Amino acid sequence: MHEARFYEKRDEEAVYCSLCPKGCTIKEGHTGFCRVRENRRGTLYALNYGHCSACAVDPVEKKPLYHFYPAHTILSLGTFGCNLRCGFCQNWEIAHGEPRTVTLEPAQVVAMTQAQGSRCVGVAYTYSEPLVWYEFVFDTARLVKEAGFKNVLVTNGFIAEDPLQELLPYIDALNIDVKSFRDDYYKKVCKGRLAPVLRTVSLAKERCHVEVTNLIVTGLNDSEAEIAELVDWLAGLDPDIPLHFSRYFPNFEMEEPPTPVEKLYQAREIARRKLRYVYLGNVWDEEADSTYCPDCGTAVIRREGYRVRGVAFKDGRCTACGTAIPVVGTVWERK
Ligand code: SF4
Repeated sequence: MHEARFYEKRDEEAVYCSLCPKGCTIKEGHTGFCRVRENRRGTLYALNYGHCSACAVDPVEKKPLYHFYPAHTILSLGTFGCNLRCGFCQNWEIAHGEPRTVTLEPAQVVAMTQAQGSRCVGVAYTYSEPLVWYEFVFDTARLVKEAGFKNVLVTNGFIAEDPLQELLPYIDALNIDVKSFRDDYYKKVCKGRLAPVLRTVSLAKERCHVEVTNLIVTGLNDSEAEIAELVDWLAGLDPDIPLHFSRYFPNFEMEEPPTPVEKLYQAREIARRKLRYVYLGNVWDEEADSTYCPDCGTAVIRREGYRVRGVAFKDGRCTACGTAIPVVGTVWERK
């Protein structure tokens, strides 16, 4: 059993967990909202420490990260539990179910990463919510970084400020889900709040590479006004932040029909007025997956799905006109 961090004893009966903005008061023998932090006789334990429910070597593009070590692979690990409960959850079997797990030590993760060869850039904590795997992610990310590899979080961004600030020095890139630009949507559909997620995007942007995903759900968060507000906010932070609009399909507790593809293209039109790099997920359109030079329009990184198929990009610049393209790391090429 691994003791959790970021909690305090309230009285003989209960502890208070401050890892995320839920701020659960957890009685003896109970777990918090995320189901993975349990109070046993006044000590809070991280029940999922070292428990891995999913492990694969994925293209970095699948996270999705399109401006971070293109064409590289990344060892991807997930656990169970979540501090939100989104009606459309795509990973509900592991986020809210009882998946089978294998046990891993942080040092084993480093050895597994080293065994992947030069194409593998590091480790992604993904599939389920990594922020409720905090202690294991923290311990592993430190070792992974010491070994010269990169750490990536694919996250809902719903975390308190102190634990985030402690973790960020070990993290190189994040894909953060901004599920909506309405607090009401966060409350009703996800059982969370918007403001802490926006704070995470801002704080992470100061130290790491950040890309943002927005899942557009039919009739719930797809109005032009809401998309324009999200885009305005991101552009205010940095117009170079890559934004991925993703197409919703029915899953878990939600039965609304799949988002019409036209809605995705409409959202992209709105976003392109202020952001330079906008992509569509779950649409399978090469044109919508590729990166274009904002100056001359050349396809600097041409993708088919998650595969990089052509590159007109060298030393951080478009090879056609020399414009700087904000991409972290080099494109992997077979030697
Ligand atoms: S991390 Fe879990 S237990 Fe802690 S406050 Fe958040 S939901 Fe509650």
